[in-house]
Amino acid sequence: MYSSLIGKIEKAQRYAQERERVNFSRFVVWFQGEHDRYRLGYDEGRWECSCGFFNGRQVCSHTMALERILQGMIPSRTAPAE
Ligand SMILES: [Zn+2]
Repeated sequence: MYSSLIGKIEKAQRYAQERERVNFSRFVVWFQGEHDRYRLGYDEGRWECSCGFFNGRQVCSHTMALERILQGMIPSRTAPAE
C-alpha cells in the first residue's frame, strides 16, 4: 500500500512537469487587475471577461495574461510568445 502510494507520487511529480498532458476545456477564475477584480470565463476556446475593454474586442490584458500562464494547456489564438 505505502510503496504503491510512493509510486503514484513519483508519477504525479513527473506528470506535473509535462504540462502538455493537460488541456483545459472550461473554467472560471477571478483575476485581480491593477484597479479591480475581473471574472474570466473560458469554454472550449471562447473567452469572456467582465472588464470594459473585452466587450466588443473579445480580448484584453487579462485573457492574454491567462493565455500565457496556461500556454500549452489551451489552444493559442494570439501571436506566439516572444
Ligand atoms: Zn479583461
